[in-house]
Amino acid sequence: MENSAEKLPFPAELMSERLLVWYRAQGRELPWRNSRDPYRIWLSEIMLQQTTVTAVVDYYHRFLVRFPDIETLAAATVEEVLTLWAGLGYYSRARNLHKTAQQVVSEKKSQFPQSVEQLQQLPGIGRSTAGAIAALAFDLPEPILDGNVRRILSRLFAVRAPARDRSVEKRLWRLAQQLVPAHSAHDYTQAIMDLGATVCTPKRPGCEQCPLAELCLAKTFDLTAVVPMFRQKMKVPTRRQAIILIVSNSKKLIRRRKTEGLLGGMLEFPVVDLSDRVAPTTAVCELLSSYGCQAAADYIGTIRHSYSHFRLEAEVYTLSCSQVQIKTDHDLYWQSDADLDELALHGAHKKALALSRAKRRATDVWD
Ligand code: SF4
Repeated sequence: MENSAEKLPFPAELMSERLLVWYRAQGRELPWRNSRDPYRIWLSEIMLQQTTVTAVVDYYHRFLVRFPDIETLAAATVEEVLTLWAGLGYYSRARNLHKTAQQVVSEKKSQFPQSVEQLQQLPGIGRSTAGAIAALAFDLPEPILDGNVRRILSRLFAVRAPARDRSVEKRLWRLAQQLVPAHSAHDYTQAIMDLGATVCTPKRPGCEQCPLAELCLAKTFDLTAVVPMFRQKMKVPTRRQAIILIVSNSKKLIRRRKTEGLLGGMLEFPVVDLSDRVAPTTAVCELLSSYGCQAAADYIGTIRHSYSHFRLEAEVYTLSCSQVQIKTDHDLYWQSDADLDELALHGAHKKALALSRAKRRATDVWD
């Protein structure tokens, strides 16, 4: 527990009681809700990081069909896991999921540890996720501090400083710890998540329906529109690339990215960075000739894709070349077009593929 507990403006039990009454009447029905299985809870918590419930539900069901327990997940290849994860983004989560499964199976006899300290030793499990697993699977009075809880606590206590500032973050963790009840930690944790998702929303919170309205300092002082506060946003840089879809005999050339780093282990089409010093067509030609191909590719359009720390603007080229002899290997190979949808192509390249198919359909219509 964070040291030096703070004097609260209301009894902690009053807040948790109100929240629990509200949750038992109005909590959400979610597929992972009625389980106390740490595997399912961990899986849902990792999927929900940076992702909405709506986006996660189908992936969650698909994962459980393919990997019903931690042993099956640990025995899979990382490529299989990435393939099932394709489209959900933040792919390091999938790689860490796989590593954690292997670690829990081999070092912990397939049993998740219960303490937040031990949970945090596992790949991809931070303090809030560890708290969620401990509370939801083992009913331990451990706090969480995800985006929803950060917002609710900032408003309840009218915190007028950016919630991500280190000292504010420390204070919020301390408050989160003080508020979590000794009993019913499982329900309390679900309740506070639900309140943030459905009532105390980022814009226009529904204070009229909020069970905590009478306790909330932001509501009392009419600060709900300005709290939580945010740090000034850094300008996100734009990177430029060219993506080249090389087609030969109904197959496309794809390559696997290195295991480590951004989008590690995912599949993509050949790609080249663009700069102002070289014309895009020249950069594309250079890449093609490094494959032993002298033909010119056709520009078909530009796609844009956002990552957490940069924006990508990629020109998309296609080249149909049945004569080309490209030296392929484990990481660069031909893949049948029909199978591409089932593979772990990352988001930007899925867009490039969709663009090429749309162009092709349009050409078929007008030819
Ligand atoms: S009263 Fe309004 S601002 Fe305060 S916790 Fe409830 S919904 Fe959020």
